[in-house]
Amino acid sequence: MWALQAVRLPDGYVADVVVDGERIARIGPGVAAGVPQVEDCSEKLLLPAFVDGHVHLDKALIRDELNEHDGTLAGAIGAIHERKRRYTAADVRDRAREVIESSVRLGTTRLRSHVDVDTIGGLVPLEGVMAAAAESADIAEIRTVAFPQEGLLRDPGAYDLMEAALEAGANVVGGMPHWEPDEESQREHVRLCFELAERFDRDLDMHVDETDDGGVRTLEMVADEALRRGFVGRVCAGHVCSLAAAPDDYAERVIDKCLRAGISVAANPVTNLVLQGRGDRGLVRRGMTRVGEFRAAGVNVMFGQDCVKDGFYPFGRGSMLEVALISAHAAHLTTHDDLEFALRAVTEAPAQAWRLDDYGLEAGARADLQLLAAPSWEEALRLQAPPEKVWFKGRLVAQNSVRSDLYRAPSN
Ligand SMILES: [Zn+2]
Repeated sequence: MWALQAVRLPDGYVADVVVDGERIARIGPGVAAGVPQVEDCSEKLLLPAFVDGHVHLDKALIRDELNEHDGTLAGAIGAIHERKRRYTAADVRDRAREVIESSVRLGTTRLRSHVDVDTIGGLVPLEGVMAAAAESADIAEIRTVAFPQEGLLRDPGAYDLMEAALEAGANVVGGMPHWEPDEESQREHVRLCFELAERFDRDLDMHVDETDDGGVRTLEMVADEALRRGFVGRVCAGHVCSLAAAPDDYAERVIDKCLRAGISVAANPVTNLVLQGRGDRGLVRRGMTRVGEFRAAGVNVMFGQDCVKDGFYPFGRGSMLEVALISAHAAHLTTHDDLEFALRAVTEAPAQAWRLDDYGLEAGARADLQLLAAPSWEEALRLQAPPEKVWFKGRLVAQNSVRSDLYRAPSN
């Protein structure tokens, strides 16, 4: 048993936190009294460790080996094909592990990775990411989403591979209905994904409407299917860019369906800001879904890293602090309430989408924690310093120190 004394909680209160084994045992003023091992935190900020609810570990860090392309989603998907053919499980594993380790250092201990499942790479990407997950089990919890990146109808054979991926242990059923050529195949893609999810009793996490084209409307298909099958609270929709281009009354109706179906939305502005709106001149669309409207309606909204130095996005380092900052810019989040929402979007919101019942700063929760040398969440977000310490299941797994010296002239 050990304790952190006098930490500042996100709500501003100062308290002690007592950890017993993998869990938080007590939290409150003065509860560290009598605990043998106590660390004085002098009102540094304690947050639950971040959760990255949407990342692609299999394709991370391959950018330097790709040919340049037009910067669009289609360009990126195509540019990866040749490299994906050459993937080996060891190569995917090593790159995935590098991002996992970087994420842990920066305060994230749970990541849900989409992993391409298609006839180009077969099950190699999944094998690699699952190996990285197993090798990283002492520092982080990784879950995998079987993701038919090349479509199901567009890529004959992908459905069988999806079945094999789920049999091999992929945790969640992915999807990408808008990638199919017409509405009928999009609907069929959605149906096939739900069928797999029901058959294997898995949750769903699909790439939905990652396009500027307001006429692409597979989010409604996903919501309808979830409602029809009673698959409520078990579906996450990622990206959802085109909803921003749809008429307001249509968007309102679909958002209401999402709310009733308990759909979580993973907005990924970090990547979509650079990926979408490429054909626009003048007023350039920025790939943002309707974060404000989803939030106002009460839909669970999270922000994900999505891509790390791959064919889609040249940046990213597994920092959810950075993801929250970029997302705050993209979604016009500036008030105190807004910034609290941004914190929720990288902590409790993805935890809710995962249906975790042991997450957060409360007695009984798993002790996945991070201590930041900032007086508040807003200052942590502004200053972007890495956490001083990160714990996974009650064990210290990372420590960072940042040194900065300023040299004034002697006369000052
Ligand atoms: Zn994605």
